[in-house]
Amino acid sequence: MYYFGVDIGGTNISAGIIDGKYKMTDKACTPTIQGRSHKDILEDAAKLCLSLAEKNEIPLDKINSVGIGLPGLVDTKKGKLIYANNLSFDHIDIIKEFKKFIDKPIYIENDANCAAIGEMMCGAAHGNKNVIYITLGTGVGAGIILNGKVFRGAFGGGGEAGHMVIMAEGELCTCGRKGCWEAYASATALRREGRIAAAKYPNSEIYRLVDGNIKLIDAKTVFDAADLNDEVAMEIIDTYSKHLAIGIVNLVNIFQPETVVIGGGICAQGDRVIEPVNNILKEKVYGGVLKTKLAVATLGNDAGIVGAALLFKNFD
Ligand SMILES: [Zn+2]
Repeated sequence: MYYFGVDIGGTNISAGIIDGKYKMTDKACTPTIQGRSHKDILEDAAKLCLSLAEKNEIPLDKINSVGIGLPGLVDTKKGKLIYANNLSFDHIDIIKEFKKFIDKPIYIENDANCAAIGEMMCGAAHGNKNVIYITLGTGVGAGIILNGKVFRGAFGGGGEAGHMVIMAEGELCTCGRKGCWEAYASATALRREGRIAAAKYPNSEIYRLVDGNIKLIDAKTVFDAADLNDEVAMEIIDTYSKHLAIGIVNLVNIFQPETVVIGGGICAQGDRVIEPVNNILKEKVYGGVLKTKLAVATLGNDAGIVGAALLFKNFD
């Protein structure tokens, strides 16, 4: 048997086929294009799936199911997307609408939860049952799996780790409140600090790397400047690591997972992010003995597709 997995994001729609051993056979993607209707986006997703099946000569009766990851609040039982700030539609019955294109059992889930499932089943947390997946990108997303089940709270919206407050009256967050972890640990936060520092220190490598065009600075620029032994950049990364670690310490103290998996753009930095955070974790974790493993996502951008394809296994 084969399984379709779809990952609908604000930027791209990705789809893949996994086989009975949960290995990705093939994948494809197409731009989401902001502002389009749910019908157009779901039709594109279905077309991607069908073209993958055709290209790999897999007949549709060999396809078991379709899993769809969505960026926002998802009612998995009713099959509805409740809210997504990256898409121009909500309160849509995704399962009913997608069945118009592919008449198979359809499952939907939040995208960070899909990535957590993917990493638990086939990636950095393989063999674990208590896993926290954190994605560090534009924002900070999280997927929490406890005893093999996705944690979503009593009303479906739990597990928003990015919006735990780590600094009273701190930086403004995209959610409108102040001091959220996301406002300190996202790639956007690192970019913000890089730009502020470059404006203040025109002799820094951060400033030089973009020839003074501060708008070009992103999170990677700060890491690149640190590679050149730029003290300003190194200090920003040091502070960033501390803030990232505070949130992880909080999560480890509450949930004591076997593994915390770091995904998203920042995870491309690998040990440069993992090592300092792990050192802080060892020092700050409650009880003084760190048993939780901190790991970089091994499936990369495929985690969401693989996790979505595996939704038929039921992680509730
Ligand atoms: Zn927030």
